[in-house]
Amino acid sequence: MPAHVDAMSDWYEVLAVRYGTRQASAAEVFLNYHSYHEPDRPLRMDYFFWVARNPSRTVVIDTGFSPAGGAARGRTMLLDTVPALNAAGLDPDGVAQVVLTHAHYDHIGGLPVFTEAEVIMTSDEYDFWTGPMGRRGQFAHTTEAGELDRLKQLRGNGRLTLTGRTHSVAPGIELTQVGGHTQGQAIVTVATREGPVILASDAVHYYEELERDRPFSTVANLADMYAAFDRIRELAQGARVVAGHDPLVAERFPARAGSQDVIRISQ
Ligand SMILES: [Zn+2]
Repeated sequence: MPAHVDAMSDWYEVLAVRYGTRQASAAEVFLNYHSYHEPDRPLRMDYFFWVARNPSRTVVIDTGFSPAGGAARGRTMLLDTVPALNAAGLDPDGVAQVVLTHAHYDHIGGLPVFTEAEVIMTSDEYDFWTGPMGRRGQFAHTTEAGELDRLKQLRGNGRLTLTGRTHSVAPGIELTQVGGHTQGQAIVTVATREGPVILASDAVHYYEELERDRPFSTVANLADMYAAFDRIRELAQGARVVAGHDPLVAERFPARAGSQDVIRISQ
C-alpha cells in the first residue's frame, strides 16, 4: 500500500470547544502592560478544550475547569465538561486519550469524567506541581490542590503517562514541551487534511502574544515563554495556530460543528 494511503488514516478533524468565558482587560492579561504605554482596554478571555478525532481514534486535549474551580475565580461556565463533549458529538467513554498541556485549574478540572482514557502530560509539569515549588502562593493560586492530588492518584493507578520533551501521542498527534507559561507547558500538533494544526494552549493565550511579541501575565519562565513564541512561529509556516484563550479563534475559524461553541479548526 502506498505511504500516502496509510497516512490518510492518521489525519484528524480538529475542534475547539468553548466552554467558558470572562471579561478581562489588556492590563490583566499582558505581562507588565504599562511598559507598552498604551491605555488599558477590555479583553474577553474565552476558555477552550480541543478535540482531535478520526474514525479510529478520539483524543481530547485538556478538559476545562470544574464548576467549583471556575466559580472560585468568578469565571462563567457556558458548558460543563460532559455537556461540552456532547455538544461536540462525544461521550467521555469514547475518548481513548486525554492530553494535559499543563496542570492549571482551567485545563485539568474536567478530568474526573474520563474514567477509561489514558492521561498524558510532561514529566516536568507533573514534577513541578507535585513538588514543593508548586505549593508556593503565586504558583498555587492557578491550581486546585484536590485536582493535583487526582493526578497523583492517576499516576498510582497506572493511568497517567509522563513524557519527555517530545512524545508521539498517536500517529499524527505530537506533544512538544515548550515551557514558559508553566514549567512543563506543552503544545500539541495534529495532522489534518488541511495541513498541520498547532494547538498552542497557554503557550499562546492570545494571538497578540505571538504577533506583537507580548508575554502573558502568568509566567513561570519568561525566557522560555519568548523562546516558545519563536518555536511556534517556526512551526506556524503552513500550519493553523490555535491560541488557547483568544475570542479571535472563533473569527479566524468561522466554521461550526453543530453548536455555536464548537469551532471547527480543520476538517
Ligand atoms: Zn494556564
